[in-house]
Amino acid sequence: MTLTRRKFLKVTATSALSLMAGPNVSQGFELEGRMSPGPKALKAKRWAMVVDMNKCRDDCADDCIAACHSLHNVPNIPEPEHEVKWLFLEPYENAFPERSHRFLSQKVREKKFFLMCNHCEDPPCVRVCPTQATFKREKDGIVMIDYHRCIGCRFCMAACPYGSRSFNFRDPRPFIKKINPGYPTRRRGVVEKCNFCQELLEVGRMPACVEACKYGVLTFGDLEDPTSAVRKLLSEKPHIRRKPDLGTGPSVFYIV
Ligand code: SF4
Repeated sequence: MTLTRRKFLKVTATSALSLMAGPNVSQGFELEGRMSPGPKALKAKRWAMVVDMNKCRDDCADDCIAACHSLHNVPNIPEPEHEVKWLFLEPYENAFPERSHRFLSQKVREKKFFLMCNHCEDPPCVRVCPTQATFKREKDGIVMIDYHRCIGCRFCMAACPYGSRSFNFRDPRPFIKKINPGYPTRRRGVVEKCNFCQELLEVGRMPACVEACKYGVLTFGDLEDPTSAVRKLLSEKPHIRRKPDLGTGPSVFYIV
């Protein structure tokens, strides 16, 4: 019987990681994204986020990022080359380089855009993963990472055109100010990113950034439901997505 390269990598990765995973890597983490939702779970055919940049004030993004990063034990590593981020800010010309031009209004030029994983409809990160550690949930479109399967090859990071993934070059745990025991920590050598707070959706809550946002910048809902809040906003207001020409189909929309 021949063993394909894909199967070989999968078997090797699974064996290696089961040896490497210490007691701090919880069982729940391995199963994250594949577990059955609770009775109060919020459901959608395709979750999506609308970011209304007209409502975003200078101070508000910090609250959203802090809520996400503290909930998910995202380390605060001072060296930029080792930075780990789930939510992050970039100027317009970095977020939307193909739309940037020298006649942009000062207002738009000075704004920091709120970025995250786009939970793409056709995610290139999923296609290149040799161990299927990253996968798209067919039930709601969320792109997840199974950290026990991640072998740290970083193909997904090279494939993601949005810089939405981070790699743990070092053990992240010493850089977490206060560990949230309700969410697992990661370890050196794995990739991580925003998960649209699937663990909160499964207990009937909205993503942490949406709950933390004071000014109603973030709206989260079902893109396939014509009556949802996100569809209402998208039908009323002009909006853009990041790098639409690549055909990845981002599920994060921006009202500029
Ligand atoms: Fe994958 Fe990047 Fe799309 Fe997120 S934004 S689904 S990491 S390609």
